[in-house]
Amino acid sequence: MSKINLNPSALAMVPFVSVADMMKIVNTVGIKKMIRGIAEYIEADFKRWPEFDKTPRVPSHSKEGVIELMPTSDGELYGFKYVNGHPANMARGFQTVTAFGLLARVDNGYPVMLSEMTVLTALRTAATSAVAAKYLAPKNAKTMAMIGNGAQCEFQALAFQELLGIETVRLYDIDPDATSKAVRNLEATGLNVVSCNSSQEAVTGAEIITTCTADKQCATILTDNMVGAGQHINAIGGDCPGKTELHKDILLRADIFVEFPEQTRIEGEIQQLDADHPVTELWEVMTGRAKGRTSDTQTTLFDSVGFATEDFSALRYVRDQLEATGHFKNLDLLADPDDPRDLFGMVNRAKEA
Ligand code: NAD
Repeated sequence: MSKINLNPSALAMVPFVSVADMMKIVNTVGIKKMIRGIAEYIEADFKRWPEFDKTPRVPSHSKEGVIELMPTSDGELYGFKYVNGHPANMARGFQTVTAFGLLARVDNGYPVMLSEMTVLTALRTAATSAVAAKYLAPKNAKTMAMIGNGAQCEFQALAFQELLGIETVRLYDIDPDATSKAVRNLEATGLNVVSCNSSQEAVTGAEIITTCTADKQCATILTDNMVGAGQHINAIGGDCPGKTELHKDILLRADIFVEFPEQTRIEGEIQQLDADHPVTELWEVMTGRAKGRTSDTQTTLFDSVGFATEDFSALRYVRDQLEATGHFKNLDLLADPDDPRDLFGMVNRAKEA
């Protein structure tokens, strides 16, 4: 197992966390403990929101999907994620969402870690959903409906079990194979898992509804009549212009909570609303500047799109596991001539080596 060397002279070697390494970290730490840990980092970073550089992510759209860059910095560390979203990928045998990301020192610009982020995105999205729900879901919620049982599904279920005490998940997907896969994967988790035949059936009796479907269109996964007073909706699948999951009438009566309004107004469910429709920022709720849930009858909506600080938090968490777990490889990513100005000489000397 490699050892991380944080000595400045050794920083030309960049720790790289491959998919295999990430899976080892998850299984060494334990998946629920890791979701809890990432959630703590995410919440801590939301609570120091003003310290971050913030910009809506930079998308490159095509008819098949989108490729996005998500940068941020807290003044000490800089981070970015490369992520795609291609709803048609699944039918072609590819992942809908894949990602990798990087953390760098701000003082000299040197990367300090490069990491896979496909698995990490699922963990951080689940952790973010659960952190938001701590402030927004009905107290003592025990049942969650999960509509869309693809790659994100089990991570969401475990996060809500670990952080909110959810005991039952009610699953629905238009593809029964996706639901069967999720039932299998959740078997030994202690959750009571119920397969449903429709979204309507899934949401019945659930205090929390998570929608995590993938379709490159404005879909209507939930209609207004399906959402009862007091339910919390965790809508994570609508995260791109022209890609939403909820009927507009739900938005018009829900109290809406968002990560970074400038990005959510472009990508989230609220792209269906007027640009000045009131929304509350999550960081304000977490710091006590704004209220989260205030009554048992309130319909709350977390209009999740995924924001750069969440990836930054997740990368920080992984970086902090490297020394203890040793699950990384050193990558020769940065040219490091003995004389910083003699880049050419370094190339020349490599001929002789
Ligand atoms: P996936 O393709 O693995 O799974 C999506 C599932 O949705 C599939 O099983 C599909 O059959 C199902 N589905 C599609 N239309 C449906 C419908 N009308 N009713 C019920 N089920 C339906 O995708 P994934 O990786 O699980 O991601 C799910 C969504 O979450 C994607 O849209 C993705 O872009 C989004 N996402 C958001 C965040 C965030 O931070 N908000 C992070 C990651 C992924």
